[in-house]
Amino acid sequence: MALVVQKYGGSSVADAQKIKNVAKRIADCKKKGDQVVVVVSAMGDTTDDLIQLAKTICSKPDKRELDVLLSTGEIVSSTLLAMCLTEMGCQSISLNGQQAGIQTDTAYSSARILKVEARRVKSELEKGNVVIVAGFQGITASLDITTLGRGGSDTTAVALAAALGAKVVGRYTDTEGVFTADPRVVPDAKPLSEISYEEMLELATYGSKVIHPRAVELGELYNIPILVASSFNDKPGTLIHGEVSMENRNKVRSVCHDLDIAKITVVGIPDRPGIASALFVPLAEAGLSVDTIVQNASVNNITDLTFTTTKGEFEKSMAVINPLAKSIGAKQVSADSKVGKVSIIGTGMQNTPGYAARMFNTLSKEGINILLISTSEIRITCIIAEDRVKDAVKALHKAFQLDQVKS
Ligand code: ASP
Ligand code: MG
Repeated sequence: MALVVQKYGGSSVADAQKIKNVAKRIADCKKKGDQVVVVVSAMGDTTDDLIQLAKTICSKPDKRELDVLLSTGEIVSSTLLAMCLTEMGCQSISLNGQQAGIQTDTAYSSARILKVEARRVKSELEKGNVVIVAGFQGITASLDITTLGRGGSDTTAVALAAALGAKVVGRYTDTEGVFTADPRVVPDAKPLSEISYEEMLELATYGSKVIHPRAVELGELYNIPILVASSFNDKPGTLIHGEVSMENRNKVRSVCHDLDIAKITVVGIPDRPGIASALFVPLAEAGLSVDTIVQNASVNNITDLTFTTTKGEFEKSMAVINPLAKSIGAKQVSADSKVGKVSIIGTGMQNTPGYAARMFNTLSKEGINILLISTSEIRITCIIAEDRVKDAVKALHKAFQLDQVKS
């Protein structure tokens, strides 16, 4: 008898029919004799709707109250799924985050899981129940409800799997797995049968919406493979794990893109110690997260510093940066909110020359201007004009022969 942990995303439980469909899959799994724990997201766009609802009541909802409100989304879906299963003759019980023992810190809206005390989950499994856990939520030491950040149900599932000693997490949604590019942009993108944690972490951080990066991080930390597959068909999906076969390693695995980017450059900064902290500490204190940061080598002790934010945080970041730039003696602040980024990712690029050149060459042939470049050992990212991002993804997918990948 194996212990199976499955997670179903919001699109998979978006309406009554979809909940019934998911319940059938779970019941079939249980019939094989396995113990089954299921983590669910809120139905469809429930979380967005709840946020909007709060905003119609007050402009700046209290963080504690907002987390309680948002946690109800997953409670609704978990209870409906449990009812449905039980009616189908598959004994089931729903548990909220607290009951499932998801203990977190006090960072409302982006809480971190400190510990999973899964005693109740285990005892319900022993009674023969399928246990449906409301994802995305936890409880602080002083019994306040927290949420784990958008997309946080993935993290709940991996954390529970680690605590219960499950061998693998099945993460089911409306996508069939991890592709060589977003299939909505590149119709002949191919599904990958497997991908390493580190590649998936880069992909998830640089625009792929397939799985939340924190869940991948946790999977790697506890060495729990995550199978990403569709809840609507039986296609094999993509296994995210640590032992990707050698043959697959030696190339670019995927092209990903992100349109939710804005770029801010502080121009003509007198170069002296403390400049970066003078800009980024206040940004952090304002709760604004920056992404790519590039500082130029200084000429005559004058340097430029560029960073990116999400489009949603662009205005707020500008409001913080403008007065700071003045106070540190910078010449001006220039900004562009109509940018996006495109990245190629693959452990095969590590220590192998030529990939960056090929990427730049491909973009140049398309007449695409590169505004900023950033790299890690296994990723090359270019920030380019927003309206050229899709052209860039298509061209790179072809240039790196990802259309020929065998799935
Ligand atoms: N319902 C939450 C969200 O939409 C958490 C999740 O779906 O994982 O972000
Ligand atoms: Mg959701």
